[in-house]
Amino acid sequence: MHQAIDIEALCAERGLRITDQRRTIARVLSESDDHPDVEKLHERASAIDPRISIATVYRTVRLFEEAGILDRHDFGDGRARYEATPEAHHDHLIDVESGKVIEFVDPELEQLQRQIAEKLGYRLVDHRMELYGVKLERDG
Ligand SMILES: [Zn+2]
Repeated sequence: MHQAIDIEALCAERGLRITDQRRTIARVLSESDDHPDVEKLHERASAIDPRISIATVYRTVRLFEEAGILDRHDFGDGRARYEATPEAHHDHLIDVESGKVIEFVDPELEQLQRQIAEKLGYRLVDHRMELYGVKLERDG
């Protein structure tokens, strides 16, 4: 589901000034498929460019988010997690023990949500669906 999204190109499209540090952070984000938080992003970005501070990462993700390039998620642990705004919609299942995030798409669920909105007199334009689970023990 995660084709690497070219955040750098999106910045250019939206007229965001791209500095070296922003470019590095954009690259790290483009290459991440695990919905990292700011600390993890900082870890990865500063491995490439040690001058990048956590404050710069905070500012940059806020900027990207405001430009509609990034989606911010809160998966229940109080930390903002980020992913490049996907081209195709998907939902998330969060493993509450490991924090692992699994992406899924279910056409029936999408349809059901549209129907619920319609029943309530609305046309659905967006939604967020987060499932929280504990991995089932499976023998064999
Ligand atoms: Zn996702």
